[in-house]
Amino acid sequence: MAGDDGVQGVRDGGGDPRPRRVLVFPLPFQGHIDPMMHLAGALHARAGLAVTVLHTRFNALDPARHPEFRFVEVPDGVPAGVAATGRIIDVILAMNAAMEASPEAVRGALASAMIAEDEDEEAPHAACLVIDSNLLAVQRAAEKLGLPTMVLRTGSAACLRCFLAYPMLHDKGYLPFQESQLYMPVPELPPLRVRDLFQTKISSHEMVREVIARITETVRNCSGLIINTFEALEPDELQKLRGELDLPLLLAAGPLHKLSSKTTGSSLLDQDYSCIEWLDTQPPGSVLYVSFGSLAAMDSGEFVEVAWGLANSGHPFLWVVRPNLVQDTDIAQLPDGFEDAVKGRGMVIQWAPQQEVLAHRAVGGFWTHCGWNSTLESVGEGVPMICRPNAVDQMMNARYVEEVWGVGFELEGELERGEVEGAVRKLMGGGREGAEMTERAEVLRRKVAECLDGSGSSRTAIDMLVDYMLSL
Ligand code: UDP
Repeated sequence: MAGDDGVQGVRDGGGDPRPRRVLVFPLPFQGHIDPMMHLAGALHARAGLAVTVLHTRFNALDPARHPEFRFVEVPDGVPAGVAATGRIIDVILAMNAAMEASPEAVRGALASAMIAEDEDEEAPHAACLVIDSNLLAVQRAAEKLGLPTMVLRTGSAACLRCFLAYPMLHDKGYLPFQESQLYMPVPELPPLRVRDLFQTKISSHEMVREVIARITETVRNCSGLIINTFEALEPDELQKLRGELDLPLLLAAGPLHKLSSKTTGSSLLDQDYSCIEWLDTQPPGSVLYVSFGSLAAMDSGEFVEVAWGLANSGHPFLWVVRPNLVQDTDIAQLPDGFEDAVKGRGMVIQWAPQQEVLAHRAVGGFWTHCGWNSTLESVGEGVPMICRPNAVDQMMNARYVEEVWGVGFELEGELERGEVEGAVRKLMGGGREGAEMTERAEVLRRKVAECLDGSGSSRTAIDMLVDYMLSL
């Protein structure tokens, strides 16, 4: 295999000696783009594979920020009205429907991506296509071209198990949710309770069900599955998945953001690096980082409660208030008196370089919505969490943070300033509970470091992936 110099090559015994190209197609949402681009970065830097990124116009990536990759646009056909809702489930279904309605457009884009610019157009240079698991329409188009597809799951292994169990969860009456059963355990998927199952209130349950059915079909049809998790984090879930899915390859290769050394430049919003200078001025472990990811939203009353809860806690904090964080408002207004109250110890920005922030020595806690990337990024830096899950897989991620790994706790119920203040003090105030969570987070961080070192499980998984891609 070529070294870190990016020279194309093949591993020993790889058969066909020609340089190989891998096509990658992320779902165009931040939490899906990042892990795919990190995977692409790792394949390029460590194995010398050429990479072509397929992308939609919706949430398009900027090719200028990735000069090492080729980019090919695929018509997505998402109606403007659906795109404007920002509802991920609706966009996924609309995108797949449009692609399936004109499969020749997707096939055309794939066919042009399969051919390297400087090579014989007849030669099959592309080894395979790695797609997000939400892109069944693309998998179907690739099948027609004889191009093998591998699938990247950007959520946890536990989440995929929940998807595979979705028909059973309906048969047994756990779903659709009934308020009276929310805290009932689901013994088939321990430690989940009904309220932890995959859900969203902003799209209909039938749409959620359809998206999940399509994901499981995509996964079952693929030539190999890569999951953004690591063996020591979800050993039982991975073992069960390997029993439940009959796939040629199922690899836990995460945390993917730790595998490619460069920042991917795939952020859809500009990251405000001035916060790093501010963090440099704060004492070690003193700052609470607060961010609810790229999609979660709150109402204006909740926003005010969060602001005063943070202010009243007395602890330093860095808070990401991105556009659209507050429902029906582009840019949220902080309450009167807030800036004076937190002068010198609170910073508010629109979008952070989150991985750098979590790795900063001044950060001692993360108040998160528990998106899977945020959860993994926190775990990777040994930062304990306050969890405020909102929808989709966030409830189950929070459950694992609290119940299985013991590196955080959920802030449940109505958002109210006194509760917020109490939660911040519990994590950051130097008490026993917070200290124990911090210690366990450090143990988990070391496990991340181990899975990434020379013979670690995730590094080995990437080597196996490269061998497999070269054998296709
Ligand atoms: N992120 C970021 N800056 C921010 C907030 C988030 O770069 O200010 C990144 C974060 O590092 C993560 C992604 O956005 O990789 C969010 O993904 P996640 O799965 O946590 O949540 P989602 O946005 O999908 O709900």
